[in-house]
Amino acid sequence: MSKIQSHENCNHESSKAARAKCRRSRAKFADAFASALTDGTPIETPVFESVNVTRENWRDHADSPVVLFTRISDDEEAPIAEGVKITGWGKQWVNYVNDEGKTKRTAVTCLGARTIEA
Ligand SMILES: [Zn+2]
Repeated sequence: MSKIQSHENCNHESSKAARAKCRRSRAKFADAFASALTDGTPIETPVFESVNVTRENWRDHADSPVVLFTRISDDEEAPIAEGVKITGWGKQWVNYVNDEGKTKRTAVTCLGARTIEA
């Protein structure tokens, strides 16, 4: 006898009818549980997609927190500031405000920026 059909933890009387009733209610519960798992719409969690911020599009992302970093190589980055907001992107400098509201700037040379989740 499989464990799920065992009645050793049940409170009903140990008659054939009581055991049958118990099995039916278990099956009903199992079906309800299975359909709740399968017929539900997929749970949609908002997925944050990071955007590369450039001199061209930074104004569109001026209200988004970004991470600024130096590109060291194709796959290496050195973070400069995280969670800051860009306030200007010139030929030489990028201005940004940090979380203390202070305006700072960093050189555009090798600079990368991308939005991060607020
Ligand atoms: Zn039972």
